[in-house]
Amino acid sequence: MIGQQFGRLTVIKIDGRDDKRNLWLECQCTCGKTKRVRLDNLRNGKTQSCGCFGREQRSRGSARRASERSRARYGKLSLPVAEATVYKALAKRGK
Ligand SMILES: [Zn+2]
Repeated sequence: MIGQQFGRLTVIKIDGRDDKRNLWLECQCTCGKTKRVRLDNLRNGKTQSCGCFGREQRSRGSARRASERSRARYGKLSLPVAEATVYKALAKRGK
């Protein structure tokens, strides 16, 4: 059990059971944080990090939203952001 890996978490300590007889484990995340998680949540894949993974997913989501926003800004050109940037650079050079 100790040293077993689930996603980003490595079990470092068995932390006892709660009153529903769920086994709790103290885990070390790859980001360096430790987190107390239930064994069944590790086993069924619900918990795979200290929470940093979910945060990264969410920030990726907001990055996508940001790029959609800037795409909307150049909506008339209907260009993806990178091309819009090139277009702007070209426009600045006066073609
Ligand atoms: Zn983490």
